[in-house]
Amino acid sequence: MLTVGMIGLGAMGEHMARNLAKAGFLSALYNRTTQKAEKLGQELNVNVAHTPEALAANVDIICLCVSRDEDVMEIIHAIKDTIRPNSVVIDMSTVSNHTAKKAAAILACGDVDFLDAPVSGGVEGAKSGKLAMMVGGDSAILEKVSPILASMAAHIVHIGPTGSGQATKAVNQIMAAGINQAVTEALTFAKAQQLPMDQIIDVISGGAASSWFLQNRGLSMTENHYPAGFKVALHQKDLDICLQMGRDSEVSLPITSQTRDDYAQLIAQGLGECDISALYSLKTNLKTN
Ligand code: NAP
Repeated sequence: MLTVGMIGLGAMGEHMARNLAKAGFLSALYNRTTQKAEKLGQELNVNVAHTPEALAANVDIICLCVSRDEDVMEIIHAIKDTIRPNSVVIDMSTVSNHTAKKAAAILACGDVDFLDAPVSGGVEGAKSGKLAMMVGGDSAILEKVSPILASMAAHIVHIGPTGSGQATKAVNQIMAAGINQAVTEALTFAKAQQLPMDQIIDVISGGAASSWFLQNRGLSMTENHYPAGFKVALHQKDLDICLQMGRDSEVSLPITSQTRDDYAQLIAQGLGECDISALYSLKTNLKTN
Protein backbone atom coordinates (compact mmCIF):
# COMPACT_ATOMS: atom_id res chain seq x y z
CA MET A 1 0.00 0.00 0.00
CA LEU A 2 1.23 3.51 -0.84
CA THR A 3 2.17 5.60 2.19
CA VAL A 4 1.01 9.20 2.40
CA GLY A 5 2.38 12.24 4.21
CA MET A 6 0.27 15.36 4.71
CA ILE A 7 1.83 18.84 4.85
CA GLY A 8 -0.37 21.73 6.08
CA LEU A 9 -2.97 21.18 8.79
CA GLY A 10 -5.06 24.33 8.49
CA ALA A 11 -8.84 24.60 8.19
CA MET A 12 -8.78 22.26 5.15
CA GLY A 13 -5.65 20.17 5.72
CA GLU A 14 -6.60 18.92 9.17
CA HIS A 15 -9.79 17.32 7.82
CA MET A 16 -8.00 15.98 4.75
CA ALA A 17 -5.48 14.32 7.09
CA ARG A 18 -8.28 12.82 9.18
CA ASN A 19 -9.89 11.32 6.07
CA LEU A 20 -6.54 9.97 4.81
CA ALA A 21 -6.06 8.35 8.22
CA LYS A 22 -9.59 6.92 8.22
CA ALA A 23 -8.88 5.26 4.87
CA GLY A 24 -5.61 3.82 6.24
CA PHE A 25 -3.22 5.82 4.00
CA LEU A 26 -1.73 8.40 6.37
CA SER A 27 1.71 7.62 7.73
CA ALA A 28 3.19 11.06 8.50
CA LEU A 29 2.18 14.65 9.23
CA TYR A 30 3.97 17.98 9.07
CA ASN A 31 2.73 21.40 10.06
CA ARG A 32 4.74 24.62 10.35
CA THR A 33 3.26 25.23 13.79
CA THR A 34 4.44 21.97 15.35
CA GLN A 35 1.90 21.80 18.20
CA LYS A 36 -0.97 21.31 15.72
CA ALA A 37 0.81 18.36 14.10
CA GLU A 38 1.75 16.84 17.45
CA LYS A 39 -1.82 17.02 18.75
CA LEU A 40 -3.28 15.45 15.59
CA GLY A 41 -0.43 12.91 15.30
CA GLN A 42 -1.16 11.69 18.81
CA GLU A 43 -4.89 11.49 18.15
CA LEU A 44 -4.48 9.61 14.84
CA ASN A 45 -1.46 7.60 15.98
CA VAL A 46 0.62 8.87 13.06
CA ASN A 47 4.29 9.95 12.96
CA VAL A 48 5.01 13.67 13.13
CA ALA A 49 7.87 14.97 11.00
CA HIS A 50 9.64 18.07 12.25
CA THR A 51 10.61 19.28 8.78
CA PRO A 52 9.02 18.84 5.33
CA GLU A 53 12.26 17.24 4.10
CA ALA A 54 12.11 14.57 6.83
CA LEU A 55 8.52 13.77 5.86
CA ALA A 56 9.39 13.59 2.16
CA ALA A 57 12.18 11.06 2.78
CA ASN A 58 9.78 8.51 4.26
CA VAL A 59 6.57 8.40 2.19
CA ASP A 60 5.47 7.53 -1.36
CA ILE A 61 2.92 10.31 -1.78
CA ILE A 62 3.00 13.84 -0.38
CA CYS A 63 -0.26 15.77 -0.07
CA LEU A 64 0.10 19.49 0.38
CA CYS A 65 -2.44 22.11 1.47
CA VAL A 66 -0.81 25.41 2.46
CA SER A 67 -1.83 29.01 1.94
CA ARG A 68 -0.13 30.80 -0.92
CA ASP A 69 2.12 30.42 -3.97
CA GLU A 70 5.28 31.30 -2.02
CA ASP A 71 4.40 28.74 0.67
CA VAL A 72 4.02 25.97 -1.91
CA MET A 73 7.36 26.92 -3.48
CA GLU A 74 9.05 27.00 -0.06
CA ILE A 75 7.89 23.42 0.57
CA ILE A 76 8.90 22.24 -2.92
CA HIS A 77 12.41 23.66 -2.47
CA ALA A 78 12.64 22.11 1.00
CA ILE A 79 11.67 18.59 -0.13
CA LYS A 80 13.34 18.39 -3.53
CA ASP A 81 16.60 16.86 -2.27
CA THR A 82 15.16 14.26 0.11
CA ILE A 83 12.06 13.13 -1.79
CA ARG A 84 12.34 9.62 -3.24
CA PRO A 85 12.30 9.07 -7.02
CA ASN A 86 8.89 7.94 -8.34
CA SER A 87 7.09 9.68 -5.48
CA VAL A 88 4.11 11.89 -6.25
CA VAL A 89 3.41 15.37 -4.86
CA ILE A 90 -0.27 16.33 -4.88
CA ASP A 91 -0.82 20.02 -4.27
CA MET A 92 -4.35 20.77 -3.04
CA SER A 93 -3.60 24.42 -2.18
CA THR A 94 -5.13 27.13 -4.38
CA VAL A 95 -2.27 28.84 -6.22
CA SER A 96 -1.53 30.07 -9.73
CA ASN A 97 -1.15 27.76 -12.72
CA HIS A 98 2.40 29.17 -13.11
CA THR A 99 3.32 27.96 -9.62
CA ALA A 100 1.99 24.50 -10.49
CA LYS A 101 4.18 24.40 -13.60
CA LYS A 102 7.26 25.65 -11.68
CA ALA A 103 6.76 23.07 -8.92
CA ALA A 104 6.29 20.25 -11.45
CA ALA A 105 9.46 21.23 -13.34
CA ILE A 106 11.60 21.29 -10.17
CA LEU A 107 10.30 17.90 -9.03
CA ALA A 108 10.65 16.33 -12.47
CA CYS A 109 14.46 16.79 -12.14
CA GLY A 110 14.36 14.20 -9.34
CA ASP A 111 11.96 11.85 -11.20
CA VAL A 112 9.07 12.93 -8.99
CA ASP A 113 5.57 13.40 -10.39
CA PHE A 114 3.31 16.34 -9.57
CA LEU A 115 -0.44 16.88 -9.73
CA ASP A 116 -2.14 20.22 -9.15
CA ALA A 117 -5.36 19.18 -7.44
CA PRO A 118 -7.13 22.20 -5.93
CA VAL A 119 -10.47 21.60 -4.28
CA SER A 120 -13.85 23.21 -3.75
CA GLY A 121 -16.49 22.47 -1.12
CA GLY A 122 -15.26 24.43 1.88
CA VAL A 123 -14.34 23.18 5.31
CA GLU A 124 -17.63 21.23 5.30
CA GLY A 125 -16.55 19.33 2.15
CA ALA A 126 -13.10 18.68 3.60
CA LYS A 127 -14.68 17.31 6.78
CA SER A 128 -17.14 15.01 5.02
CA GLY A 129 -14.55 13.87 2.46
CA LYS A 130 -16.84 15.08 -0.32
CA LEU A 131 -14.74 17.80 -1.94
CA ALA A 132 -14.81 18.51 -5.67
CA MET A 133 -11.25 18.18 -7.01
CA MET A 134 -9.95 19.54 -10.33
CA VAL A 135 -6.73 17.88 -11.41
CA GLY A 136 -3.92 18.88 -13.76
CA GLY A 137 -1.10 16.54 -14.71
CA ASP A 138 -0.52 13.07 -16.12
CA SER A 139 -3.73 10.99 -16.18
CA ALA A 140 -1.79 7.76 -15.45
CA ILE A 141 -0.43 9.34 -12.25
CA LEU A 142 -3.92 10.44 -11.30
CA GLU A 143 -5.13 6.88 -11.76
CA LYS A 144 -2.29 5.61 -9.54
CA VAL A 145 -3.27 7.93 -6.67
CA SER A 146 -7.03 8.00 -7.20
CA PRO A 147 -7.88 5.72 -4.21
CA ILE A 148 -5.99 8.19 -2.02
CA LEU A 149 -7.78 11.21 -3.50
CA ALA A 150 -11.14 9.41 -3.20
CA SER A 151 -10.73 9.40 0.59
CA MET A 152 -10.94 13.22 0.48
CA ALA A 153 -13.02 14.04 -2.59
CA ALA A 154 -16.30 12.71 -3.96
CA HIS A 155 -15.96 14.28 -7.40
CA ILE A 156 -12.55 14.14 -9.07
CA VAL A 157 -12.13 15.41 -12.62
CA HIS A 158 -8.96 15.28 -14.72
CA ILE A 159 -8.85 18.57 -16.61
CA GLY A 160 -5.63 18.38 -18.65
CA PRO A 161 -1.89 19.08 -18.34
CA THR A 162 -0.11 20.55 -15.32
CA GLY A 163 -1.62 23.91 -14.31
CA SER A 164 -5.06 23.18 -15.74
CA GLY A 165 -6.37 22.15 -12.31
CA GLN A 166 -5.37 25.55 -10.91
CA ALA A 167 -6.80 27.36 -13.97
CA THR A 168 -10.11 25.56 -13.29
CA LYS A 169 -9.96 26.60 -9.65
CA ALA A 170 -9.59 30.21 -10.84
CA VAL A 171 -12.88 29.76 -12.73
CA ASN A 172 -14.44 28.50 -9.49
CA GLN A 173 -13.11 31.46 -7.51
CA ILE A 174 -14.44 34.00 -10.02
CA MET A 175 -17.85 32.33 -9.70
CA ALA A 176 -17.58 32.29 -5.89
CA ALA A 177 -16.87 36.05 -5.93
CA GLY A 178 -20.01 36.69 -7.98
CA ILE A 179 -22.12 34.44 -5.76
CA ASN A 180 -20.84 36.22 -2.65
CA GLN A 181 -21.76 39.60 -4.21
CA ALA A 182 -25.22 38.36 -5.23
CA VAL A 183 -26.11 36.68 -1.94
CA THR A 184 -24.82 39.46 0.35
CA GLU A 185 -26.48 42.17 -1.77
CA ALA A 186 -29.81 40.31 -1.90
CA LEU A 187 -29.82 39.62 1.84
CA THR A 188 -28.95 43.26 2.60
CA PHE A 189 -31.99 44.19 0.51
CA ALA A 190 -34.13 41.60 2.35
CA LYS A 191 -33.05 43.06 5.70
CA ALA A 192 -34.01 46.57 4.52
CA GLN A 193 -37.45 45.22 3.61
CA GLN A 194 -37.72 43.92 7.20
CA LEU A 195 -38.43 40.42 5.92
CA PRO A 196 -37.98 37.38 8.20
CA MET A 197 -34.44 36.34 7.26
CA ASP A 198 -34.63 32.67 8.24
CA GLN A 199 -37.78 32.14 6.15
CA ILE A 200 -36.26 34.07 3.23
CA ILE A 201 -33.18 31.86 3.28
CA ASP A 202 -35.28 28.72 3.69
CA VAL A 203 -37.58 29.37 0.71
CA ILE A 204 -34.91 30.75 -1.64
CA SER A 205 -32.65 27.80 -0.82
CA GLY A 206 -35.32 25.54 -2.32
CA GLY A 207 -35.59 27.43 -5.62
CA ALA A 208 -33.60 28.37 -8.69
CA ALA A 209 -31.58 31.10 -6.95
CA SER A 210 -30.24 28.65 -4.37
CA SER A 211 -26.52 28.11 -3.86
CA TRP A 212 -24.15 26.27 -1.51
CA PHE A 213 -23.14 29.68 -0.15
CA LEU A 214 -26.70 30.74 0.64
CA GLN A 215 -27.49 27.39 2.26
CA ASN A 216 -24.29 27.19 4.33
CA ARG A 217 -23.53 30.83 5.12
CA GLY A 218 -26.87 32.67 4.71
CA LEU A 219 -28.17 32.40 8.26
CA SER A 220 -24.85 32.95 10.03
CA MET A 221 -24.05 36.08 8.01
CA THR A 222 -27.43 37.66 8.78
CA GLU A 223 -26.63 37.05 12.47
CA ASN A 224 -23.38 38.99 11.86
CA HIS A 225 -21.39 35.83 12.55
CA TYR A 226 -18.52 34.98 10.18
CA PRO A 227 -16.54 32.08 11.68
CA ALA A 228 -13.46 31.28 9.59
CA GLY A 229 -14.51 28.81 6.89
CA PHE A 230 -12.86 30.33 3.84
CA LYS A 231 -10.88 33.36 4.92
CA VAL A 232 -11.31 36.75 3.22
CA ALA A 233 -7.51 37.06 2.90
CA LEU A 234 -7.29 33.70 1.09
CA HIS A 235 -10.06 34.52 -1.39
CA GLN A 236 -8.44 37.90 -2.02
CA LYS A 237 -5.20 36.04 -2.83
CA ASP A 238 -7.12 33.86 -5.31
CA LEU A 239 -8.82 36.86 -6.94
CA ASP A 240 -5.42 38.49 -7.49
CA ILE A 241 -4.42 35.33 -9.38
CA CYS A 242 -7.68 35.43 -11.40
CA LEU A 243 -7.24 39.12 -12.25
CA GLN A 244 -3.68 38.54 -13.43
CA MET A 245 -4.85 35.61 -15.60
CA GLY A 246 -7.64 37.83 -16.94
CA ARG A 247 -5.16 40.58 -17.86
CA ASP A 248 -2.90 38.00 -19.54
CA SER A 249 -5.77 36.76 -21.69
CA GLU A 250 -7.47 40.16 -22.14
CA VAL A 251 -10.67 39.17 -20.35
CA SER A 252 -12.38 41.81 -18.24
CA LEU A 253 -13.51 40.61 -14.79
CA PRO A 254 -15.44 43.53 -13.23
CA ILE A 255 -17.20 41.55 -10.47
CA THR A 256 -13.94 39.87 -9.50
CA SER A 257 -12.24 43.26 -9.39
CA GLN A 258 -15.01 44.78 -7.23
CA THR A 259 -14.87 41.82 -4.83
CA ARG A 260 -11.10 42.06 -4.57
CA ASP A 261 -11.43 45.75 -3.59
CA ASP A 262 -14.26 44.98 -1.13
CA TYR A 263 -12.02 42.37 0.53
CA ALA A 264 -9.24 44.98 0.81
CA GLN A 265 -11.69 47.11 2.82
CA LEU A 266 -12.62 44.15 5.04
CA ILE A 267 -8.94 43.40 5.64
CA ALA A 268 -8.34 47.08 6.54
CA GLN A 269 -11.16 46.69 9.10
CA GLY A 270 -9.38 43.69 10.64
CA LEU A 271 -11.73 41.07 9.12
CA GLY A 272 -9.19 39.27 6.90
CA GLU A 273 -9.32 36.08 8.99
CA CYS A 274 -13.16 35.96 8.90
CA ASP A 275 -15.18 33.90 6.44
CA ILE A 276 -15.87 35.57 3.08
CA SER A 277 -19.53 35.97 4.10
CA ALA A 278 -18.22 38.98 6.11
CA LEU A 279 -18.88 40.86 2.85
CA TYR A 280 -22.43 41.13 4.25
CA SER A 281 -21.13 43.43 7.00
CA LEU A 282 -19.66 45.76 4.39
CA LYS A 283 -22.93 45.89 2.44
CA THR A 284 -25.12 46.48 5.50
CA ASN A 285 -22.78 49.23 6.72
CA LEU A 286 -22.64 50.75 3.26
CA LYS A 287 -26.42 50.97 3.32
CA THR A 288 -26.48 53.03 6.50
CA ASN A 289 -23.50 55.26 5.59
P1 NAP B 1 -5.41 27.99 6.74
O1 NAP B 1 -6.42 27.51 7.71
O2 NAP B 1 -4.91 29.39 6.84
O3 NAP B 1 -4.14 26.99 6.85
C1 NAP B 1 -2.98 27.19 6.11
C2 NAP B 1 -2.01 26.06 6.41
O4 NAP B 1 -0.81 26.27 5.63
C3 NAP B 1 -1.56 26.01 7.88
O5 NAP B 1 -1.37 24.67 8.24
C4 NAP B 1 -0.23 26.77 7.83
O6 NAP B 1 0.65 26.43 8.88
C5 NAP B 1 0.31 26.28 6.51
N1 NAP B 1 1.33 27.16 5.94
C6 NAP B 1 1.16 28.42 5.48
N2 NAP B 1 2.33 28.91 5.02
C7 NAP B 1 3.25 27.93 5.19
C8 NAP B 1 4.63 27.83 4.91
N3 NAP B 1 5.31 28.84 4.34
N4 NAP B 1 5.25 26.66 5.21
C9 NAP B 1 4.58 25.65 5.78
N5 NAP B 1 3.28 25.68 6.07
C10 NAP B 1 2.62 26.81 5.78
O7 NAP B 1 -5.89 27.82 5.24
P2 NAP B 1 -6.98 26.78 4.64
O8 NAP B 1 -8.32 27.41 4.71
O9 NAP B 1 -6.73 25.42 5.19
O10 NAP B 1 -6.53 26.84 3.10
C11 NAP B 1 -5.40 26.14 2.62
C12 NAP B 1 -5.41 26.23 1.08
O11 NAP B 1 -6.62 25.65 0.59
C13 NAP B 1 -5.37 27.68 0.56
O12 NAP B 1 -4.61 27.74 -0.62
C14 NAP B 1 -6.85 27.98 0.29
O13 NAP B 1 -7.00 28.98 -0.69
C15 NAP B 1 -7.34 26.62 -0.18
N6 NAP B 1 -8.78 26.37 0.03
C16 NAP B 1 -9.43 26.75 1.18
C17 NAP B 1 -10.80 26.49 1.32
C18 NAP B 1 -11.55 26.87 2.56
O14 NAP B 1 -12.81 26.87 2.53
N7 NAP B 1 -10.90 27.18 3.67
C19 NAP B 1 -11.49 25.83 0.30
C20 NAP B 1 -10.80 25.42 -0.84
C21 NAP B 1 -9.44 25.69 -0.96
P3 NAP B 1 0.48 27.10 10.35
O15 NAP B 1 -0.49 26.23 11.08
O16 NAP B 1 1.84 27.08 10.91
O17 NAP B 1 -0.03 28.51 10.13
